[in-house]
Amino acid sequence: MRKALICPTKYVQGENELLNLGYFIKTFGTSALLIAHADDVRRVKPQIDATAKQYGVKFVESAFGGECSRQEVARLQALASENKCDCTIGLGGGKAIDTAKCVAEGEALIIVPTIAATDAPTSHSAVLYTPDGAFDDYAYFKQSPSVVLIDTTIIANAPTRFLVSGMGDALSTYFEARATSKAYANVNAGLPAGYREGFTDPAKSTNAALALATLCYETLLADGYKAKVACDGNVVTQALENIIEANILLSGLGFESGGLAAAHAIHDGLTILEGTHKYFHGEKVAFGTVVQLVLENAPSEELETVLDFCISVGLPITLADIGVDQISEEELRAVAEKACIPEESVHSMPFDVTVDAVIAAIVAADKIGSAYKVG
Ligand SMILES: [Zn+2]
Repeated sequence: MRKALICPTKYVQGENELLNLGYFIKTFGTSALLIAHADDVRRVKPQIDATAKQYGVKFVESAFGGECSRQEVARLQALASENKCDCTIGLGGGKAIDTAKCVAEGEALIIVPTIAATDAPTSHSAVLYTPDGAFDDYAYFKQSPSVVLIDTTIIANAPTRFLVSGMGDALSTYFEARATSKAYANVNAGLPAGYREGFTDPAKSTNAALALATLCYETLLADGYKAKVACDGNVVTQALENIIEANILLSGLGFESGGLAAAHAIHDGLTILEGTHKYFHGEKVAFGTVVQLVLENAPSEELETVLDFCISVGLPITLADIGVDQISEEELRAVAEKACIPEESVHSMPFDVTVDAVIAAIVAADKIGSAYKVG
């Protein structure tokens, strides 16, 4: 059986770690293209200036436009070559990180997430959008980032909702990896560089990836609530450190090398509902996880553990929790149909999944979540 696992070359996480960014730039040369939103640059300016001075490196600012589009990527690549940049830095949230991945194309890339809202930082993939923000395509690169650098002090000072959303994204990881493994479905780690179209190179998950996904879930249950409280108080505790590691490293390796399944496909389906747009990716994924557990008829005890966890940190467990107070039959069918298109990860479940089965699981999950809240 062909198996694959992919990961960053180096992952470093610690308090005030941003002050060491210059050290990592130095391993590539002396100058770095800094791709970051102006607000994020302002937020970390003192650390950037300090590390530039200490290590004698130069940051080339990029006036990042905010969207990961082909046009913006081409502009930034030209800027990097004009300035002879030795490496690329993606600093901030998802868009800056994805854009940096596209600009670097798998070479000399340092990723610095300033929030722990998703598990995207470690991956070798990015999502491209049109300049007006509509989905364009997925992109895959020959390697994961060279360095993923996490400053836990910065994460502790970001709004808690980001951290909790990251826990929602991480919550699905074990259940999706377990389903993928049972189904012997393909994992993203096997995807070669280039765009998804024409891909013919399947690989299955490793035991290592499933072990990381399992640890991810155990960490959430053990430290999720304590980490949320620490983030509320803007302090770094061991529980917060453990959850940052779970949200970014364990979930990142877990989803990419362990596989996605129903939870993310249901998330993708839910995005067609207007009401969900003001909710974060991980918040919708949390509800998608509850739906997956219903779809696969997971043991009641497991479902209750997940519901208790979601309530303890404030993650959604009903449609109303993600902005959907009412849903028509047509809308429900459209959500399920989108979740079941041929290229969706719902087909990584270890049984055939139909549109009707997804509709039933969403309705039942919503009722179970609502009843659970009432107690
Ligand atoms: Zn996700």
